[in-house]
Amino acid sequence: MPEDTRIAHLHERGRKREAQMVTKEVPRTVVGNGSSAAAGVDGRLVVNPHVQIVRCSDDEVLVKHGTRSLFSEAINDGSRAGILGRLLDRLRRPGTLGDLVDDGTLTAAEAESSTDAVDYLKQRKVLIPVPLTSARAYVDTFLGDQRQLDNAVVGLVGAGVLARRVARGVAAVHPSQLHVLTDGEAVEPHDLVADDGRRNGTKRAPKGVHLHDAAASDETALREIFDLAGYVVVALDRFSPTALHAANAVALATRTPWSAVFFDGSEAVIGPVHVPGETACYFEFEIQHEASLTLKGEYMLYKESLMAGGPARGAPLAPHLDVAAGFAATSALEFILSGTSFGVGRALRINFETGSIDYQDVLRFPRCPACQNLRPPYRHLFL
Ligand SMILES: [Zn+2]
Repeated sequence: MPEDTRIAHLHERGRKREAQMVTKEVPRTVVGNGSSAAAGVDGRLVVNPHVQIVRCSDDEVLVKHGTRSLFSEAINDGSRAGILGRLLDRLRRPGTLGDLVDDGTLTAAEAESSTDAVDYLKQRKVLIPVPLTSARAYVDTFLGDQRQLDNAVVGLVGAGVLARRVARGVAAVHPSQLHVLTDGEAVEPHDLVADDGRRNGTKRAPKGVHLHDAAASDETALREIFDLAGYVVVALDRFSPTALHAANAVALATRTPWSAVFFDGSEAVIGPVHVPGETACYFEFEIQHEASLTLKGEYMLYKESLMAGGPARGAPLAPHLDVAAGFAATSALEFILSGTSFGVGRALRINFETGSIDYQDVLRFPRCPACQNLRPPYRHLFL
């Protein structure tokens, strides 16, 4: 697939969820041997805790997530069997079709004729298997198949105050592994996903969290993280061109998708998501950012100072960190689960001094010195 087409494809996948109100009819069923394929892992199903079910009649319900949510549909039972409303009312508490018969909600015949309808409601995420946590249920409903997380390996470069919040956001949905490059920070795995440890009153090491003690600019350690992970977030409390260029070089060499989140003064920069060989790399992003500045000389002095002496050490404010980390973790999870994200091809800049939010679209250079080797169509004919 040509590169431009691939990018268009990535954006297109992001736009596909168009807002629309649709009326769906549940299958009129009817066969059934009692062993429903719709049963949850432990056999029970429950109404998705993230949707509001408005019972219009016994045969018609309106399912909504929020006022402006894309998840919105009316479901009706064309057979007018009067089961749909009762079924969904009862399944606000977990149960199987057998349980519904036992407690008198449905007759045995009604249960038997409801298997296809239950399958449909499960497919539409109105009903979910019981062992699913609230976070995983959200993922499954709005981001993608939550089972992908059981094999997802996420990398995180940095372990400062911003990175810890990103780690907590990612760990909330329990990916298989989280590999963290500590960049000199003295942290323990439970510091990164503190909620779990506190809830259990223990300091046990959270499952799947692995620490790698090395600097963010250590090429060997970076390579290890990018090799292991399917997606990497570089989370820096302060803007560090050195660390970001180092990550870019390793990402291009390992072809690992990644994104950065960092604070440049009071401005949080989230993204863009870099997909090596398909979207602009960090080099292109930085060049375009610099080209848009008016006081360029002043900026170059500032940048040189950052690279030479290290950034100012004051940590960003906690509420600013929460917002930036939330966007970064959401973008990462979106990409891991669906292969695209709001951050593909654009960075989000939140300036907390002025309260402004800007999206910066990032174009690709025909001959980017950093990643042109990954772009055969633009290579010089004689090279
Ligand atoms: Zn590039």
